[in-house]
Amino acid sequence: MTSSPDVIVIGAGVLGLCSAAELAGRGHAVTVIDPGGPNASSAAAGMLAPALECLSDDSTPERAALLKRARDLWPTFAEAHGLTLHRDGVDWRGSDIPAAIARLAAMGFEARATRAGLTSPEDWRVEVAAGLKALARAPGVTVIRSSVARLSADARRWRVESSDGRTWFAASVVLATGVAAPISGLPDRVAAVVGAIEPWRGQLSPVSAPPPPRALRTSGLYVVPAAGGVVMGATMERGRRDIVPDMEEAAARVAAGLALLGAEGEAGPPRVGIRGATPDGLPLAGAAEEPGLHLALAPFRNGWLLGPLVAAIVADGIEGRAPGPDAAALDPLRFA
Ligand SMILES: Cc1cc2nc3c(=O)[nH]c(=O)nc-3n(C[C@H](O)[C@H](O)[C@H](O)COP(=O)(O)OP(=O)(O)OC[C@H]3O[C@@H](n4cnc5c(N)ncnc54)[C@H](O)[C@@H]3O)c2cc1C
Repeated sequence: MTSSPDVIVIGAGVLGLCSAAELAGRGHAVTVIDPGGPNASSAAAGMLAPALECLSDDSTPERAALLKRARDLWPTFAEAHGLTLHRDGVDWRGSDIPAAIARLAAMGFEARATRAGLTSPEDWRVEVAAGLKALARAPGVTVIRSSVARLSADARRWRVESSDGRTWFAASVVLATGVAAPISGLPDRVAAVVGAIEPWRGQLSPVSAPPPPRALRTSGLYVVPAAGGVVMGATMERGRRDIVPDMEEAAARVAAGLALLGAEGEAGPPRVGIRGATPDGLPLAGAAEEPGLHLALAPFRNGWLLGPLVAAIVADGIEGRAPGPDAAALDPLRFA
């Protein structure tokens, strides 16, 4: 046994680290276990995009309101944990701009026409590499480089065993393992839910090019300001888990992104990540049936946007507080 935290979080993606930082901010001692290396969260563009995600999904007002409430947790969350939040809005280029503005208005989002398309103040962004670093350094959070191989529980606590032979104990465990296979020892219903998470591969390219004033999006393509220039993304490849970059696709996307920007630039190596999705596109967040077991999984295209909301639901569950207004929609066992 190497230590005894209050909570062990398995997985250091955005959901695991947001949950860890939230819990530590509430006074819990939290250990996060992850082997390290790239994941979906480090591949992402960092958009907090309730408006444009709803526009491209042709979403409902209820879903739009949930995503907006998730976004509205960000200012307090970012300030508490030292992330820089860019509230610079988004520009959209596409056909039938009046119809797009009307659709956004019907879902409760502000937008207005510009000469080239529309602009909306509703979508924000964070820088993903700096954000993950800040969350991992939150006071009260300890990150351990290891891979969890097995879980088991007695009446009081969880035993967490790593593949390198280390063991930890805690009253609460948060499973935030992205699209990984279920860890050995999970209760059958939870293992089935984890095993049913659907992978969607995504690829984007960092490009050293002059950034636009705010994220710039069009059908199937976005250009987002980022450290060193912009990122241009992203593919949506259902059912794929492989992470070898597709250089031909990257070159075509970068060419389209530079044309959209009207600029020149040099592309870096593409980043690939695997998003996890549930049938309704919302994450699995909160207490599972087993005492002390909590899930923070499968936020699909909106892991960054939904990070603070998932973290609040997980922390409320661990503290036995009354569930917030969005906990039922994210019930981790709704598909069990
Ligand atoms: C190209 C791309 C662009 C995107 N852009 C955006 C965007 O702009 N805005 C947005 O909101 N979302 C975006 N997303 C979606 C977002 O990135 C994901 O929804 C989110 O990162 C998922 O986070 P996660 O914590 O669930 O999983 P991950 O980030 O995959 O983290 C899971 C972690 O669990 C660890 N793990 C797995 N098994 C074990 C084990 N046994 N023991 C220990 N650790 C383990 C892994 O090592 C990994 O670090 C994008 C995704 C992609 C691929």
